[in-house]
Amino acid sequence: QSKLQLVHAHIRAFPDFPKKGILFRDICPILKDPAALKAVIDLFEEHVRKNYCHVDLIVGLDARGFLFGPLLAQRLGVGFVLVRKKGKLPGATVSVAYDLEYGKAEAEIQEDAVIPGQKVLLIDDLLATGGTLFAAYELMKKQQAEVLGSLVVVELKELNGIDKLRPLSVFSLVQY
Ligand code: 5GP
Repeated sequence: QSKLQLVHAHIRAFPDFPKKGILFRDICPILKDPAALKAVIDLFEEHVRKNYCHVDLIVGLDARGFLFGPLLAQRLGVGFVLVRKKGKLPGATVSVAYDLEYGKAEAEIQEDAVIPGQKVLLIDDLLATGGTLFAAYELMKKQQAEVLGSLVVVELKELNGIDKLRPLSVFSLVQY
């Protein structure tokens, strides 16, 4: 079984969650299986080493980006930074508003989280409409970081998040 097959086999679908009509892709089984979790980090690491000669920071998105981001950052020997939902981080922060399916949200980082010119990669568990990654991308640009690309375990292709994020590149392991 390849690493990709292993990852694929550890993603479950739940119909009508969190609301009717949505097919939720659940990545919890990946975390429960050390071989599957290792496969995810191996594949991300291979991609990063092959495509980027220098990365300063991995930037993880609230909340499931926090599950994979620090593991990858450790592998690469670089730091990890959190993009959080508004109101969770102490000290001076920078925020951007973004649209959710219904209503609005705000993403926030600590003002000193990235230094202008630092090369960063964004990471989350899943790309749907792209709103969440777009907000993190905006935050990074506001702080003058150089965003090299983004990484997700799962991409939901029919929602065209990739188009919304252009020119940001998105690397995904599993597509539906
Ligand atoms: P987007 O902003 O791209 O529309 O939604 C992506 C964000 O919502 C990600 O942070 C992701 O964790 C969460 N999300 C949306 N749909 C799903 C899903 O089906 N499964 C999982 N695991 N997360 C989802």
